[in-house]
Amino acid sequence: MSEETFDVIIVGAGALGVATAYYMQQNNPDKKILLVERTLAAGQANTAMSAAAVRNMFSSSTNQILTDTSIKCFEYIQNELGHDLLFEKTGYLWLLSKEQFEHESVQLWMKRMEKSGIHYKVYNKDELKKLIPSLNVNFAGDEEAELMNLQEVCYGLYGGDCGVLDPTRLVEYYFEEFKKITHVKPRFGVNVQKLLLEAEPKLDLPGEPYVWQQKKIKGVVTNKGTFRADVTVLATGAWANELLDPVGINSMTKAKKRQLFVLHAEDNPKMVELLDTKGFNEINCIPFTILPSAGVYFRPQLQERGYWIGCGDKFGRAYEYIQTDEMMVPESAYYENSMYPVLSKYFPAFEGARPVNSWAGGYCYSPDSIPFVYMECGVLVVNGASGSGIMKADALARIADALYRGEPEAELFGGKKVSSKMLSIKDRNVEIESVVI
Ligand SMILES: Cc1cc2nc3c(=O)[nH]c(=O)nc-3n(C[C@H](O)[C@H](O)[C@H](O)COP(=O)(O)OP(=O)(O)OC[C@H]3O[C@@H](n4cnc5c(N)ncnc54)[C@H](O)[C@@H]3O)c2cc1C
Repeated sequence: MSEETFDVIIVGAGALGVATAYYMQQNNPDKKILLVERTLAAGQANTAMSAAAVRNMFSSSTNQILTDTSIKCFEYIQNELGHDLLFEKTGYLWLLSKEQFEHESVQLWMKRMEKSGIHYKVYNKDELKKLIPSLNVNFAGDEEAELMNLQEVCYGLYGGDCGVLDPTRLVEYYFEEFKKITHVKPRFGVNVQKLLLEAEPKLDLPGEPYVWQQKKIKGVVTNKGTFRADVTVLATGAWANELLDPVGINSMTKAKKRQLFVLHAEDNPKMVELLDTKGFNEINCIPFTILPSAGVYFRPQLQERGYWIGCGDKFGRAYEYIQTDEMMVPESAYYENSMYPVLSKYFPAFEGARPVNSWAGGYCYSPDSIPFVYMECGVLVVNGASGSGIMKADALARIADALYRGEPEAELFGGKKVSSKMLSIKDRNVEIESVVI
């Protein structure tokens, strides 16, 4: 098999890989940076599977900074650079019960948003009913709702700077910009089989490296040959452990399957009316909405005149050592038995609604739901986005680049500076995130 040498190899051309490739090449113009990906195009894996909703409404100031600056950058790309990301400010609406709203975690969340200057608005039940007349806020005497542990809606927490975009267009932006400046053509259909672990210095003895030798990752072994580099960037998302486990690096991340189901509104006047809800945003549509119970949420899909229904279930669904094919299979019974009953209870407009399409992918969870960006033994890892990697992509890529350059601080969009080690495992300096969908 052939062998080639580069300065940097980036494995994975999802949102995080292409954004990282772009900033690394832009700020290190002399370096030979090779981007490799096992599928046949950029952004085809979990990035394409995402709901691509973006919000700055997090409880941790870390996630607030990562998302707020990234979202502002996306607005800049769309409005100033003219690259249409189909970014629409639908807003995010958390529907909460009285108990949830009064809980100390929600109060702390609001306090931290105020401190960071993140705008939000609280609606009471009457105000919500006025804006969304079809919302069911009264489960009194409803035995089914009681059996399903559904909590009554009492408040709405709304963020108007949040919205939705098209992840393919976002990936296309960073990828095209990277291609303009890179010296090395990105390669697709390249499956990285393992990281190249070598002794340093190499003694060329059988069975190297031994425990007493210094070791480093010196590149990757792939189905298209061996690629050597000083630094290997792993932006392999939910598949991080496949490459890190064998070399004894604990990624501290776990993957979990997530699914989206598409409902079309056009043939159902009640679903159309709900979609065209006025009063929350300038585009007059229902916001991205999270229900109080069971983790069910929906995203308005304005181009298709419909909705994407998802669920951020927690206890009860297994973490998986995900293989590519298994990850991509949605389960219709999951919609029918788990999501639909909840959805149609809160929003009777969805009664009888059946999916016209569906897909599945994997979240890459970190223990504190804050991403990881760190350098260890020649590998620069960017992962653990915990279901919100699209909305953090710009900031994470800038931090990865600063870390590569040995800069103590990374400058995020708008000039905000953060420690380039704040998302590392060893020097981690973050607050635990509690608002995970
Ligand atoms: C159903 C669902 C809904 C979501 N909703 C949202 C949302 O609303 N907002 C949001 O911000 N995020 C959302 N996410 C999360 C978001 O999709 C991820 O955080 C984001 O895509 C992570 O980007 P990535 O580049 O790390 O991952 P990926 O896009 O998965 O990219 C990793 C790439 O690495 C490649 N790769 C892996 N292993 C190898 C190998 N050995 N050799 C070569 N290539 C390899 C893969 O093929 C893939 O292209 C959602 C995810 C899912 C599944």
